[in-house]
Amino acid sequence: MDSSYTVLARKYRSQDFKSLIGQDVLVKTLTTAINTGRIAHAYIFTGIRGTGKTSTARILAKALNCLSSDGPTASPCGVCENCRAIAAGQHIDVLEIDAASHTGVDNMRDILDAAQYRPTNGRYKVYIIDEVHMLSTSAFNALLKTLEEPPAHVIFILATTEIRKVPVTILSRCQRFDLVRVPVETLKQHFAWIAGQEKIELSDAANELLARAADGSVRDGLSLLDQAIAQTGGHVDEQAVLDMLKRADRGVVVNFMETLLSGDTSAALSKADEIYTNGADLAMLLNDMMEWTHWATRMHPAIHAGEVTNSPYTADQREQIKKIDANVSLNTLSRIWQVMVAAVPEMQASGNQKQCFDMLIVRLMHIADMPSVTDILKNQRSAQPQTKNPEPKEQTVQKSKLSVETANDLATALQSSKEILLYSYYTSNIEVIEISNNTIKYFDRRGDADFAHKMATWLNEKTGHIWTLERIQESQNTHTITEQKKEELESDPMVASAMDLFADAEIVGVK
Ligand SMILES: [Zn+2]
Repeated sequence: MDSSYTVLARKYRSQDFKSLIGQDVLVKTLTTAINTGRIAHAYIFTGIRGTGKTSTARILAKALNCLSSDGPTASPCGVCENCRAIAAGQHIDVLEIDAASHTGVDNMRDILDAAQYRPTNGRYKVYIIDEVHMLSTSAFNALLKTLEEPPAHVIFILATTEIRKVPVTILSRCQRFDLVRVPVETLKQHFAWIAGQEKIELSDAANELLARAADGSVRDGLSLLDQAIAQTGGHVDEQAVLDMLKRADRGVVVNFMETLLSGDTSAALSKADEIYTNGADLAMLLNDMMEWTHWATRMHPAIHAGEVTNSPYTADQREQIKKIDANVSLNTLSRIWQVMVAAVPEMQASGNQKQCFDMLIVRLMHIADMPSVTDILKNQRSAQPQTKNPEPKEQTVQKSKLSVETANDLATALQSSKEILLYSYYTSNIEVIEISNNTIKYFDRRGDADFAHKMATWLNEKTGHIWTLERIQESQNTHTITEQKKEELESDPMVASAMDLFADAEIVGVK
């Protein structure tokens, strides 16, 4: 590779509307508008990165200023002085502004002040503002003023990946175009064509992987292709791309999901070890598992009776997924999906992906194992007629009811039911004088009027008995639970010796 190597994305940047990849609707609308002379003063292009927003903006600037015709043309020549200068980003009347580095209002005002002057070489002064959502509020306001009364010779082309961050007042003055994610098939055709131009080998399977990894972005796909060419010296095959993307083969993923859903935890864990050892990135693997779950759901007989053809799997893999699907409910698939989605940020945050991934597997196995709510209900219904005598059931319920005999019992019960507020009020303020016959005699140091009611309600529900709370007016100098615990702790020989060591030590709380 020589030092003058130009990255593919730049070398094969679309130079006219015809060669814009995958944006058919936009191309049709824009060319019709130009051909019929309906040119707006402001356009806004939005879409994910690498879909052609800036390329489209430059093509539009050429269309407006091309010298090959008397007025704007939908097919700029590409060779006249204006076309060439615009393609090189050097035309005096076409200003490309990166909003990220011109966020301030002063910058914006300077730029807009110059808009008042007529263009020097072109028909229009074209302002291309990239990532326009990055502008500050005051910069937006300055822009809005010009947009409200634009000079006849000025055209604004705004581009953004985050249209929601652009003020509505700006949006309402622009003609909006949404650049779509470029479909996998279109990307494949484009990459195959470039491979031909560059005289490199690109296998179909490798191309498919690259096109899917590009996720709709021409630029991302081409930089992956750049990387693959550099790594393989021009023989780009499936294995090379898998290695480069640190991805496990789709077949491996399908097999892995089969093991996982078969409920064999140790087999699933050792398969995960193997995939990891082979160099797969586990976040990518999770991604592939989610892709699998998505397609298994789409192909599930409960949703789709026939063949689903546009999946990324081979015919054999599709057959395998169908077999797995036959034993898995939609409910399970959807719960698996939820757990995986929740695991994505966990994997990113975790310092140890492998640990995190292993725990995820265990969680997923648990779901695959668990009967669904529908199954449980079904089982219950079918089990009910067999219970001839309802008595035993009554008894089990009784047994599980709470029994409270001492002040400590009550504290433990409150704590284990996670009644935190009641627990902390009870343990720090209540002196229990006596508990007997479902009656609690107590002194309340703080005197919360609601305490008796709250506690009685809770006890009634938990024990199945009616409780009476009898508040006495004077303290009997009995300890609260917290004080009791503190006292027990202080009399502990270990703690006592620790307190001796630190002369000023004091037990401030018991947890
Ligand atoms: Zn031209």
